[in-house]
Amino acid sequence: MAGAGNAIRGSRVGAGPMGEAERGEAAPRQTVAYFCSNEHRVVVAFAIEAQAPDSWDCPKCGLPASLDSDNPPPAPKTEPYKTHLAYVKERRSDKEAADILDEALALLRSRRKSGDLIF
Ligand SMILES: [Zn+2]
Repeated sequence: MAGAGNAIRGSRVGAGPMGEAERGEAAPRQTVAYFCSNEHRVVVAFAIEAQAPDSWDCPKCGLPASLDSDNPPPAPKTEPYKTHLAYVKERRSDKEAADILDEALALLRSRRKSGDLIF
């Protein structure tokens, strides 16, 4: 039975955000703990040669987390977990949003008309 051992090796614990280290289970890692103002503790693994950033976004609540457990960064004024659409709606008036939508639809229609199969 060749390859029985490879099944385990094939399970990825986690590739980096850039898709690196997919087969890097042998690469040495450092784990760095970050703390957010909601008292979450987040442990992030970095390659040993990587410079760990001073802050990290807490994956549990979205607030910034820092290396200093006694002094986590304050929550930003904007709420976490706001979608990009929410930000857009906040920044633009409804009229502007409608104009942008019209523009996008017009562009879409003109592309379809010209026969370009963009999608
Ligand atoms: Zn948190």
